Parts: sequence; structure tokens; C-alpha cells
Amino acid sequence: MNSNLKIHFLGAAGTVTGSKYLVDTGDKKIMIDCGMFQGLKKLRLLNWNYPPVKVSEIDVILLTHGHADHTAFLPRLVNMGFNGLIRATKPTLDIASIIIRDSAKIQEEEAERANKYGYSKHEIAEPLYNMIDAENAISRFNSLEDGIWIELYPDIKVRFQYNGHILGSTFIELEVRGEVIVFSGDVGRKSDLLLREPKKPQKADYLLIESTYGGKIHENLDLEEELSKIINHTYDKNGTLIIPSFAVERAQTLMYLLWKLREKGKIPKLPMIMDSPMGNNVLEVFRNHKSWHKMSANDSKQMCNAFIIVKDFRETLNIMDDKQPKIVIAGSGMVTGGRVLNYLTEYIEDPSTTVMLAGFQAEGTRGRQLLEGASDIKIYGKYYNVNAEIYNMTALSAHADQAELIDWLSDLDTNPKKVFIVHGEPHSSDAFRVKLKDTFGWDCILPELYDMYELK
Ligand SMILES: [Zn+2]
Repeated sequence: MNSNLKIHFLGAAGTVTGSKYLVDTGDKKIMIDCGMFQGLKKLRLLNWNYPPVKVSEIDVILLTHGHADHTAFLPRLVNMGFNGLIRATKPTLDIASIIIRDSAKIQEEEAERANKYGYSKHEIAEPLYNMIDAENAISRFNSLEDGIWIELYPDIKVRFQYNGHILGSTFIELEVRGEVIVFSGDVGRKSDLLLREPKKPQKADYLLIESTYGGKIHENLDLEEELSKIINHTYDKNGTLIIPSFAVERAQTLMYLLWKLREKGKIPKLPMIMDSPMGNNVLEVFRNHKSWHKMSANDSKQMCNAFIIVKDFRETLNIMDDKQPKIVIAGSGMVTGGRVLNYLTEYIEDPSTTVMLAGFQAEGTRGRQLLEGASDIKIYGKYYNVNAEIYNMTALSAHADQAELIDWLSDLDTNPKKVFIVHGEPHSSDAFRVKLKDTFGWDCILPELYDMYELK
């Protein structure tokens, strides 16, 4: 047996998307996360590449959480020949099922649209994967419990630990022959409205730490105050508030906040719309996994009753036509697809509209363009003037900021032998590198895509 321990960086190296790491223990190959590349075209094109490892030799995939940039490559990998188990906590697998089915549908629809309007460079546009691939991936799902060590193979153990980023999300500790590799996943916030405080790692011989907000501190705002200001201001303009949010990003937190504000009489009784074909399914995941969040069954029920939950696209069209002031939460969160695009084609040129961005906006996404003050944006091949007011609520972020990341690392009993900074745009990762050096004296590595490192 070869006793080398190696790690391959197959995604989220120099970018926030496409999370995929492969640990090669010498006789087992263990993949952590299997995310899709999103945002910039040069990144999206990477989804078509065969990763520089033998896919059929991967033994198992472990998932930190359900977000697409950590799970939506699974159907493609199964299609390429992966035939092991895909393991994670139960809520993560429930969310991942929703996400990858939705993603398969989007891939199929986009290929269809490209073929219909002939805007693909290829003669026949093919989807990256289809619904059959998605179902094949889901059939490999196998849940495990969090908070306890589980033996995966002789001399290889794993523990999934609550990290408060989204429902079911964890960081992963992988122990190989007595040495622990910690994969932070996406680290959550200390004071989330719906989720508990993230657990912290105690021991890490090797560490992979995310750096989405490695160079930033979130504004310390009174969320209720800020949100009611934005809503009341939009109401005064007789306008509509559009909140791009993916069904499993900030949507439940937003719904909860909006419902509370209305209960307290801080905002007018406007129609509140949750327009996501996945929204309902995700609410169900919340109902099915009560121990993973802080919302009571009664609150959850009342909150849902305060919203119009849209499933059917015809309903979307009716709501779009009705110009009375309202609040709309619709996916996707980075405005890369989904129903929010339909709303924007109708509302973004109207100065009475307010668009509130509520999560991380990656390079190359329309959300990032809006954030940076673009005067027009292109949707379905057509340009629209941005006359709406744009707000960015980083206080709603599901990601730890720089100070919270540093705090998350403060319980480690000894310094790791190697620290890899991942899951960040280059300027964030580099700012975090400097901060880690100043705080702990660590010399960190910023791996590049497809880099391989020997651990011992
Ligand atoms: Zn995430």
C-alpha cells in the first residue's frame, strides 16, 4: 500500500464556486463536495471538462452542505462514471435533491432555448446533464449522523459538525491514519435568526478554510430597522421590492424577518410573494428537520400563511402584470437565472422599483453587475436600463466575515501543518492570508485550480 496522503484541488481554488477536493490516502480516494462552477464564462466552461483524476476510481463523496456550488456537479460526475456512495447529513441530502433536480431542469431548458433560438455555437446544444443523471446521483445518497465519528474504512474516520451556514450544513473532519484534515465548508454566522451557532474545530493537522468574506467585515446593522426602512421607502414610491434570493439561501430568513416586521406593524400590509418552485419543498425540509434550526412549528406555520407561495409560472405572470406595490422574493440569488429574471424584465426600468441583493454576488453574475452600479443589464438576449434603486444587504449574509472566520479558528489546540485558503475570489483569499499570518503567524497556501499537494 502507498502511504502517501495527497489532496487535489478540483474547484473553489481562486474562485468561490465549483467546490471539489479529492483526498487520496494511497488506497482510498475521497471527494469532499462536488459543486458546479458558476458566474464567469471561463469558469462555467470548466463544468464541461473531465477533471484531472480518474472519476471511476473515486470511492466516496462527502458533502458539507446542499448549495449548488457544493453539489450540482454530482449528476455530471455520476454520468462520467462515479459509482460510489454520496454521503452527508439528512437535511443536506434533502436539499441537494431539490437543488440538483432543479439544476437538471435548468440545464435541459437552457439547451432547449439555445436550440430554439439558435444561440449556441454548437450545432445542437446539449445540456450539461439531464434529469436521468440527476436521479442516478440521488439514488447514491446515503445519510449519516452529525456530531459523531464514523469509520469509513479501516484507519479512515469522518465527523460532520454543525456549522450554521444553511440547514444541514457542516464542516467535515476527516481522520486518516491519526491525522485530521478539516474542511470548513461554508462557515455560518454566530447570531443567525434561524440557525444555531457554528461549532468550532479543536484539532486540524491540515486545514482548508473558506474565504468568501476573508477580506471584509459585515456591517453591524439592525436588520429589522434597515429592512423596514427599505420597504417603507419603496411603499412611499408606490413601488415593488424585489429580493433575488435562492430558495435555500436567505429565503427562509427573509420570510421570517418580513413576517415579524408585519406582525410588529413596522411595515404596511403589502402582498408578500415567495416565488420559487423550490420554496415550498425547502420549507418542508425545515419542517422535517426541527432539531437543525430554531424556528418553532407554530412560527413556521404563521410565517408561511403570511406569504403567497407561487408554484405555477402562470401565477408568476399574473403577479408580474399586477402593478400594485408588493414584496417579491424570487430565485436565483445572484440573478443568474430563475423567476427573478422575469420580474426584472418587467420592473427594473421602473424607478419606483427597489432591488435588494441579499447574499454573496460572484464575479460574472448579473447580481454583481447590479451591485457595481451597471446602467443596463442583459436578460434573455435583451438590454434593460437599470432605473430601479439597488440595495445590498450584506448584513443578511449566510457567510462568516473575516472576524467571524478568525474566531471560528480560535479553538484549535495546535497550529496546523498546512493551511489552504480556498473558496474566495483572489483579493479576498489574499486579504485573509495576511490576516491569518498577523493573527496566528501561519504561512498559508492559496492553491490554484488543479493543484495537487502532498500532505505527508
Ligand atoms: Zn453555501
